Order: sequence, then C-alpha cells, then structure tokens
Amino acid sequence: MTFTTLLEYVKNHETLHTWADTLALDIERGLDTKRFGDLPGWLTTLDNLPRIEPGAIDLSDSVTVSGGADPHLVSEAREGLRALIPWRKGPYSIHGIDIDTEWRSDWKWQRIRDKIAPLKHRLVLDVGCGNGYHGWRMLGDGAQRVIGIDPSPRFVVQFQAIKHFFGQHHPIDVLPLGIEHLPTELGAFDTTFSMGVFYHRRSPMDHLRELRATLRPGGQLVLETLIIEGGEGEVLVPEDRYAMMRNVWFLPSVPTMLSWMRKCGLQNPRVVDVCTTTLDEQRSTDWMHFHSLDKFLDADNPALTVEGHPAPVRAVFLAEAP
Ligand code: SAH
Repeated sequence: MTFTTLLEYVKNHETLHTWADTLALDIERGLDTKRFGDLPGWLTTLDNLPRIEPGAIDLSDSVTVSGGADPHLVSEAREGLRALIPWRKGPYSIHGIDIDTEWRSDWKWQRIRDKIAPLKHRLVLDVGCGNGYHGWRMLGDGAQRVIGIDPSPRFVVQFQAIKHFFGQHHPIDVLPLGIEHLPTELGAFDTTFSMGVFYHRRSPMDHLRELRATLRPGGQLVLETLIIEGGEGEVLVPEDRYAMMRNVWFLPSVPTMLSWMRKCGLQNPRVVDVCTTTLDEQRSTDWMHFHSLDKFLDADNPALTVEGHPAPVRAVFLAEAP
C-alpha cells in the first residue's frame, strides 16, 4: 500500500499542509500489524491479486470495471476478493465478479446525490467511509479528490483491493484513521460527509464541531444518521444495544438534530431525506454471511428492533460552515 501521492498532495496544499506533520505516522499506526493480527494475511491477499488491465470503468451509475479479462485471472481475482469477506458496503462489479454486499450503498447514494452541492471540482472528505464505496461514486460525480478515513484496517484493505482493479491513478484514498486523528481546524474541504458515523460517537456535539472544523468557509456538511420520530428535544440514548449494535449513543429526532447543528455553529441546517431501512437494503448475502437486519428486528413486529426500540430510520442533513 502506498500513500506517497496523497502525502505529496497534502504537503503542497495551501490549507491541508498543516496535516503533513502527523499524517504519515498516523497512517503507519493505523496499519500496525502488532495491533491488528489479521492484517498480515489480508496484505498477502492484496499482494497476490492478479494484474488485470482496467477496460471500461463506470463510476457514475455503479462501481464497475470490465474488459474481456482472461477467465483464469478472473478466477484468481474472485478468490482474492472472497478472502476479504465480509463485504459490507457496495455493490462492486469487477470483471464480471459481482460483489453483492450486505448494504445496497448505491441506494443511499441515489437518495443523496441530487440533493447536495454538485461535487464537480470539489475536495471531499468522507469520514467513516468504510471500504470507500461512496468515494468512488463521488469521483463519478466529478469530485476533484476524495479522502476517506476509517479506523478499521479491514476496510482500508478492501478499498485497496478495489483500487488495484480500477487503477492507482484515481484521486481517491482511504486512510486508516478516525476523525479524532485529524488536526483541529483543518478548514480545507469543500464537502465533508459523515454517513453512518454520528450514532457511534459518544459526544455528538464534539462530532459536529469536529466535522465543521474540517470545512472551508461555505463548505458543505452532509450528515446521514439514524433518527427517531419526535419533536425538538427528543432523543433516544439506548442503554444497551440498538439493533444488535454495540456502541450506539445518540439517535435524535429531526428537529433535535437541526437544533444541535445550529448550536454547533453550522449554517442553514436542513433535512433532505428520511428513509426507513428495508430488508432489501441491508441483508446477509453470499459476500457477508453474518446476521443482518432481518435478525435485528422483532420477529413479531418489524417496527421494533429486537431490543424494543423503534426500527432503523435514517435521515440526511445538510448545512454549511460559516
Ligand atoms: N459511510 C459508510 C459506512 C458507514 S459504517 C456508509 O454510509 O455506508 C460506519 C463506519 O464508521 C465504520 O466503517 C467504522 O469503522 C467507522 N468509524 C467508527 N468510528 C469512527 C471514527 N472515530 N472516525 C471515523 N470513522 C469511524
């Protein structure tokens, strides 16, 4: 894995350069094989992926690379990609190999893409990007460069496997970092995404302020998170798990979220989409064998989670940095 191009970009960027001092070391720490025991095996898988010239690439309606590859190489590619199971975010289509992921992340993108400021020429940060699926779609919509961050090295490796087949020259990276590793007040990005991360943060106001600090003045925040129905001031803080997920903290109502965004100095916060997660959007597949949403809902009443909380509803919020 090489991050040389990105490190050069950061060093020479008029506002991002303040990141250059810590970034290389943080990447190294994020991929420390002493901390992540499975990582060496994944890296070997990555090294052994067959070289297949990318032919036609689509990033606009899907994440697809195709082009008459030798069936023998395709079968080696399939073996490598399957060694990186579970695949949660996607789908990807690689030389006819359809990675049918747990999530139809393309549906989320479809709900969002026409509501946000057009990405053409924009520098984008995707916080908690998973294996980088939406980042590819952001490039497809014209982003100048996408920097994804995610503290899980498995997803960083999955991203690299995808990038291997699409070509290293694409201006997109996934870095093994959490948002807490970014320098405070970067003030650099034209658009910052935080999708599916907010409810995992113990301090929601700090998360909003951290996100705001990544943006240049006038830059746009795109925040997608779980919400509950209700009025201003209402919020669910599940004492234990939520839909079997550990580490879930705050699920605000829409009016509560908007008031939190205003309190954190974000301008013109608004909600642009509210959507109940369906069993077609999140499910077990041949590329993700663990339990999925159908097992996380009450078998007798799918409006509730197994814990008795309201079933997952997700909303997309937009706002601008002052
Ligand atoms: N953004 C993607 C993935 C959401 S899953 C989507 O919307 O489909 C949530 C991701 O947040 C996980 O991949 C997890 O590893 C990541 N995450 C958890 N803690 C984080 C942190 N402190 N900073 C950034 N990402 C984090």
